[in-house]
Amino acid sequence: CGYVTIVGRPNVGKSTLMNRILGQKLSITSKKPQTTRHQILGIKTEDDLQVIYVDTPGLHIDDKGRALNRYMNRAASEALRHVDVIVFLVDRTAWTEEDEAVLEKLKFARCPVILAVNKVDLLKDKSALLPQLELLSSKLDFAEIVPISAEKGHNVEHLEEVVEGFIPQGVHLYP
Ligand code: GDP
Repeated sequence: CGYVTIVGRPNVGKSTLMNRILGQKLSITSKKPQTTRHQILGIKTEDDLQVIYVDTPGLHIDDKGRALNRYMNRAASEALRHVDVIVFLVDRTAWTEEDEAVLEKLKFARCPVILAVNKVDLLKDKSALLPQLELLSSKLDFAEIVPISAEKGHNVEHLEEVVEGFIPQGVHLYP
């Protein structure tokens, strides 16, 4: 069983991606907080592998890139410590100070961080993506970089495979 979280500033497409991944395969969803620390959004079961997508509360950043609330922010950092892999979702069309603020938090992550670059369907010239990916990859030591379109579903299955590749096998205890 593995725990995954998708983080990113508002509007990058987190809900769209979550729905696409969990939509068909959803076995359990809960909108209610499971603990004060996190919210289980859904469980995807495939063969022997259970992947639990959790929400990180409070990764809310104001328009100046500052954390809005110290308590919530601490809760978010705590949640990030207890997942096996983090998907950092960014929008292909805009890199903002809010993204930068989320990135700062991720520097303290203790698990692999996968960079998913969303909305590539909006790109007319796909080769324009390369310099941007290069720039993003210099910002953090990402385990993998995966361009996707959450809305159109492009490359989302590949992202799921990459995520599952980082989930440890065997017994896994979650506090
Ligand atoms: P969240 O705030 O991060 O959860 O973002 P949402 O999932 O609510 O998406 C924000 C907006 O971006 C919505 O209008 C989505 O329809 C749009 N969106 C999400 N993913 C994609 C994508 O892959 N391509 C395009 N063109 N739009 C997208």
